[in-house]
Amino acid sequence: MRVDTAARGILSVNLDALSNNYRRLAQEAAGSEVAGVVKANGYGLGAREVAACLRTAGCRSFFVAHVQEGIALRESLEDARIFVLHGLAEGTEKNLADAGLIPVLNHPDELRRYATLSLTRDQRLPAALQLDTGMCRLGFSQNEAAAIDRQDLDAINPVLVMSHLVSAEVSRDPFNMKQRDRFSRRPDVLANLPASLANSSGIFLGPDFHFDLCRPGVALYGVNPTPEQPNPMQPVVTLSAPVLQIHEIEEAGTVGYNGTYDVPAGGRIATVPLGYADGYLRSSGNQARARIAGEIVPVAGRVSMDLITLDISSLPPNSVQPGCMADLIFGSDGVDQLAKAAGTIGYEVLTRLGTRLARRYTRSGP
Ligand SMILES: *Cc1c(COP(=O)(O)O)cnc(C)c1O
Repeated sequence: MRVDTAARGILSVNLDALSNNYRRLAQEAAGSEVAGVVKANGYGLGAREVAACLRTAGCRSFFVAHVQEGIALRESLEDARIFVLHGLAEGTEKNLADAGLIPVLNHPDELRRYATLSLTRDQRLPAALQLDTGMCRLGFSQNEAAAIDRQDLDAINPVLVMSHLVSAEVSRDPFNMKQRDRFSRRPDVLANLPASLANSSGIFLGPDFHFDLCRPGVALYGVNPTPEQPNPMQPVVTLSAPVLQIHEIEEAGTVGYNGTYDVPAGGRIATVPLGYADGYLRSSGNQARARIAGEIVPVAGRVSMDLITLDISSLPPNSVQPGCMADLIFGSDGVDQLAKAAGTIGYEVLTRLGTRLARRYTRSGP
């Protein structure tokens, strides 16, 4: 085994599944443009690799959160639109415009500052405008939107008006409709701009939510955007690591910190070099499952910083050896299952996946 991947976690990203998921969403949102949200390093999977793959699949618009993410992405993505969700951080306007990024303006002050920069450069710089329809996080309030100054708007090149859903994954939540209606009643000055409302789950709320552009993130990466129904997406991520050591239990005892897992004499415990410092959440201890030698086994005891322990007592003796690979995220709903075990959501599982993991980009297979 090579030193660079010996004895550590391996995060495999299936680029074919990623492309297929992009196409699946494009089909679901037929008639609308489908962008790719690649903030937080492409939800932990590697923004550069993910964006390049999506670009090849036909994606022409990308969203990041921070201007720094946009500048980094621009280096590898010359011919695509890159939107910066967090808008115009004071003092970064010039860097943002120089990199050809498109800020999502979230406040009248940002619009004014961008209009001023546009006038200074004698160039109508492109921007999106975000309206707050209920998230209460970023975006123009209804009154602020109503007061948008046409002169400021004319000074820039507004290419998109957008808003963000609060509970898109809860399909029956009446707030979805409320937000859609608020968004549809945007002020006249914004009425003719291309519009965008849906995230991953929003796409599955139906054509009324698609508008001109959809902004999926998590579904591209295989997380179920319709939690009340079977996952329409293909799994993209596999997390695995080789067994470091196997403990044959001679005397009944416990496993790991604080002895939270009992193991009888004759039991067997496999130790795997991956822990919460790698993003394998500590709350998964005694909850999550792993796959080893084709069998599903429990994570035994607490998750340590750099190690977890699996109870392989149910497997035939000698079926697992040091060096055997254990899968920690696997199967068609792997990310969602680990998230459920850890008491969180797939988004957090993905975005915590740490820098110590070796990232492998595969073209087929699991
Ligand atoms: C993160 C984000 C998205 C993508 O959301 P998913 O639920 O991952 O599809 C879309 N729009 C905005 C404003 C976001 O912050």
